Amino acid sequence: MPAKQPVIILGGGMAALAAAYELSCTDELRSRYSVTIYQRGWRLGGKCASGRAAHPADTGSKRVEEHGLHVWFGFYYNAFHMLRDCYAQLGQPYTIDTMFERRNSTPLMEYQNGRWLLWPLDFPPDPPGVEPGVNPNLPTVPEVILRLIRLVHEYLQHIANWLPRTVDEDLQSSVRWLEHMVAAPAWITAGVGNVFALSAAPHKPILPMLTWTQTVTDRWHGVRAAIDQISPAQAHLRNELRRLWIIADLAAAAVRGLTAEAADIAINGLGVLDDRDLREWFEQCGAHPEAISSAPVRGLYDLCFGYTDGDSSSFATANMAAGTALRCMLRIGMGYRGAVAYTMKVGMGEAVIAPLYEVLRRNGVRFEFFYRVDGLELVAGKLAMVNFTRQAVPQTGSPYAPIVNAPAGLASWPSRPDFSQLVNGNQMQNVAGLDFESNLSPTWGGEQIVKLDLTQPELNGAKVVLAISIGELRRITSALDSPGSEWARMLDSLKTVATQSAQLWMTKDFAGLGYPDPVRPAMNAGPEPMDVWSDMTPVVASEGWQDALRPASVQYICGPLKEDGGFDSAQLARQAVENNTAAWLQNMCAAAWPGTSAGGGFDWSSLVASGGAQQRARLSEQYLRANFEGSERYVLSTAGTTAARLKADAKAAANLYLAGDWTLNGLNAGCVEAAVMSGMQAARAIRGVPAYSMPGASDWP
Ligand SMILES: Cc1cc2nc3c(=O)[nH]c(=O)nc-3n(C[C@H](O)[C@H](O)[C@H](O)COP(=O)(O)OP(=O)(O)OC[C@H]3O[C@@H](n4cnc5c(N)ncnc54)[C@H](O)[C@@H]3O)c2cc1C
Repeated sequence: MPAKQPVIILGGGMAALAAAYELSCTDELRSRYSVTIYQRGWRLGGKCASGRAAHPADTGSKRVEEHGLHVWFGFYYNAFHMLRDCYAQLGQPYTIDTMFERRNSTPLMEYQNGRWLLWPLDFPPDPPGVEPGVNPNLPTVPEVILRLIRLVHEYLQHIANWLPRTVDEDLQSSVRWLEHMVAAPAWITAGVGNVFALSAAPHKPILPMLTWTQTVTDRWHGVRAAIDQISPAQAHLRNELRRLWIIADLAAAAVRGLTAEAADIAINGLGVLDDRDLREWFEQCGAHPEAISSAPVRGLYDLCFGYTDGDSSSFATANMAAGTALRCMLRIGMGYRGAVAYTMKVGMGEAVIAPLYEVLRRNGVRFEFFYRVDGLELVAGKLAMVNFTRQAVPQTGSPYAPIVNAPAGLASWPSRPDFSQLVNGNQMQNVAGLDFESNLSPTWGGEQIVKLDLTQPELNGAKVVLAISIGELRRITSALDSPGSEWARMLDSLKTVATQSAQLWMTKDFAGLGYPDPVRPAMNAGPEPMDVWSDMTPVVASEGWQDALRPASVQYICGPLKEDGGFDSAQLARQAVENNTAAWLQNMCAAAWPGTSAGGGFDWSSLVASGGAQQRARLSEQYLRANFEGSERYVLSTAGTTAARLKADAKAAANLYLAGDWTLNGLNAGCVEAAVMSGMQAARAIRGVPAYSMPGASDWP
């Protein structure tokens, strides 16, 4: 039998795990490849890693500790598909509905006249049986245009029906125009007809449709002024129509922009718009400034941490490439299966990473923990050596066993290594601040330099997947970083941002927060600086709390983290997160959680804490986290940088493949689906099969 092809995967995040899965998921693949994952520290998952540790209020509990709130969108075909396959192999308790909660209420908040207002946003659930990861449903660009036109038409109809007739004489013409627009389907027919022309002959200019959308915006300001004339006593109606107007304006602008560049988009996909920021593109398409700075647009930047200096309090440094942003927006809204969004009922470590680990282990994938990559060496254009720091060594003869049982019996990851399994574990345990996932960590003194020689006979011909994230790559890839190279251009172009997150265990249940809607939301565009919030109360059931101490709810918030020149210690970064969370709580209790307000500020007793913790000290017992260093930094998709991304098989070295949400993978956004797609692409390139044919890798089916 021929020797198996060795594959070395560096890093153990979602991209790495997807690559390993794609190289080991059938008998035939298992007979061909011998896969080993080298991971720093004690756990897998990267930015998706979560751990378990006690909450100080109940030392017997095992609370979930995440890198940050993770929402999986219903359009994540590849990620869900892989996970479904793992669940099917493992059986109970792994099913989508035991691990995930379906969410269709994703409201926004908007700041109007000195107050935060709720902007409800509900998506229709799919009928039962429509499942994520089964039969992808990604809209093509012509379908998108058609649906946007229908949306504009529908919203115009609503506005025309509801706009009172009492507006000024000079606005009456706008109202009449609106009535004409919705009463004259010829406009719509002209537009829709041309969508079909677009799919049949993408190179043809779409003049009638351009005229139609131009007409919409020409008269638009009059309609907006008419909405403003609605009496303040009817604030609800006024807000509702203003929001319909904003969405219709953005949709009409998008139709105009997409059709104006249809020929290029039809051939090259939405990426042709990536040289501009989304707001710049909307402006070029004639969207109204109020719509461009509205909550739906801000919400997309918030969702993707899209602020280059981490400051989301203004739009000053907001930046997301227009094509990538539009692709995400459209797939979220139009390409979902089952529900628009899914959150986890347990930690991401239990719902996703542990089942993947177990299936990969069964598939024969080997895991080497505590191997931190420090450098690569090339010989004649080939990767010849990987330089590691071996951070710790398991006790003689036994590989490190990373999994522990969470209270519900689920396989999970501890928040700290199990030192009892490690040689000199006691010594390590006594080093204050020792953190195997941080390059700023103090050392314990027994680390070893290890070199993996890829030219040795057993590894001869080995292929290497570099699945470490971009924030760490400048430190470890100087061998690839020659001046003027594609690698140097990529490192110089791609931007990352620090993120912050807080998990708040509450003494009040969801109703007790006083939020003005009974449906538990997964929300964004909320008060700064943690503009994304989700009620995650189902997680509490898996945390093993004593009955008397059990939190009534748990709330997750996160956002980008403003660095002001950077943090040189984990303590400083954490302090910044604590200050920001305190500020957010003050904002939020005034805006949407009146039940947590007392004496004009946040009522600190709303946070679960141990007996001795008073006032703001209760905050330090919640789980607060800064992701500001190396690979933990979030990868941005800023304007003008897509062209600098490299594909999985870019061949920066002959035997090197790339995986991560930072590659050119077709989605090109910092998200789980992009990471999974990139890992699959690296594996398929190694296998020599078409790497980019998976659903979602192109804007055309
Ligand atoms: C706070 C936060 C919230 C997010 N929310 C969402 C969300 O709601 N939905 C969504 O889809 N996406 C979300 N994301 C993005 C998502 O987490 C990433 O897109 C995804 O995890 C990237 O996976 P990756 O494999 O490319 O990189 P990573 O997860 O960064 O994996 C890199 C791997 O390399 C390892 N590594 C790093 N340095 C070294 C070294 N020197 N030696 C050895 N190993 C090393 C790391 O430990 C890790 O295992 C969020 C990210 C953050 C930070």
